[in-house]
Amino acid sequence: MKVAFLDRDGTIIQDYEDELWKDITEPVFINGSIEGLKKIKQKGYEIIIITNQYLIDEKIISIQRYKDFTNKFLKRIEDNGIEILDIFYCPHSRHRNCNCMKPKEGLIKMTLEKYSEIDLKDCFIVGDSLCDVELGEKLGIKTFGIGLGKREGKTIIIDSLKDVIRYI
Ligand SMILES: [Mg+2]
Ligand SMILES: [Zn+2]
Repeated sequence: MKVAFLDRDGTIIQDYEDELWKDITEPVFINGSIEGLKKIKQKGYEIIIITNQYLIDEKIISIQRYKDFTNKFLKRIEDNGIEILDIFYCPHSRHRNCNCMKPKEGLIKMTLEKYSEIDLKDCFIVGDSLCDVELGEKLGIKTFGIGLGKREGKTIIIDSLKDVIRYI
């Protein structure tokens, strides 16, 4: 199974400064991201979202708030006829030094444990933060950085999610 590992905030939906997330209850999809998801699926990839949600442990949003928001997020995607295989998130604070906060590999390891049919070498990762591209580079998989400017190494810099279609 080949998988697109996608960051959520700043990649599929609008991201905000940490404190502002307190008041955000509706996901705002970035222009073209739904189209991008659709095309990634059409190319035969399953979609797994991997997201750092340290705001939970840092008490800016509650776990319930995260879950309600996630349900709305998934509903909007499903309404567009797109199936997301799974979402893995790290709820831990930045001070906790857990093993799942990107760029650590914990979230990816969880996906491999749950879905043993994943063939990592056929997968790719997309994100808008250094932690995303560092993770992808560490894993040695095809890595896309959204709006990250010039970068050493193999990471492909793109403007938005739908641009990955030109490379996969
Ligand atoms: Mg992001
Ligand atoms: Zn964690």
